[in-house]
Amino acid sequence: MAETDQRVVGSGRLRLQRADITTLEVDAIVNAANASLAGGGGVDGAIHRAGGPEIMSELRRRYQGCPTGSAVVTGAGRLRARHVIHAVGPRWRDGEHGEPEQLRSAYRAAFALAADCGCATVASPSISTGIYGFPIDLAAPIALGEASQALAEPATPLREIVYALFAETDLACFATALAGM
Ligand code: ADP
Repeated sequence: MAETDQRVVGSGRLRLQRADITTLEVDAIVNAANASLAGGGGVDGAIHRAGGPEIMSELRRRYQGCPTGSAVVTGAGRLRARHVIHAVGPRWRDGEHGEPEQLRSAYRAAFALAADCGCATVASPSISTGIYGFPIDLAAPIALGEASQALAEPATPLREIVYALFAETDLACFATALAGM
């Protein structure tokens, strides 16, 4: 992997990878969920399809939705992960409705939950930049900033956060943001 695609942060590592997130073997996979936790298209649909119906059953049993900017955790069903962290990013309107802060908050909540669960390795998609329309050039620095902060927390169990980016153009955008950090 090119050197620009990873960065050492504290005793951890921030990494960018072009991948289908459902194939990764990590302690926790972050899902770009919606506030009703009802499943949907994009990465959310892919995670539920690959993980099987157990994930949705647990969501229904334990939670009644999840406000934008926060996150909840379930088991990972058939995925090669221990947990799925369902984080709810904002739908982009015009950037003047608190979208950047809500995105930051969704990542922060997701990584805090991963740390609480004792995870060392976490994979996350680029939240909100698909169906929710958040411009990825604005989202990438937020995503990377929150991951770095989480890795730099004193006594965190987190050792690696990998952004699993589906499209080559998304990977390039994250790599540019990482180089500018
Ligand atoms: P949102 O509704 O939060 O925008 P989406 O699922 O529509 O969520 O998109 C979030 C990002 O996840 C997009 O960049 C999309 O290309 C990407 N994505 C979709 N499927 C996968 C997958 N299987 N693995 C990794 N990323 C994915």
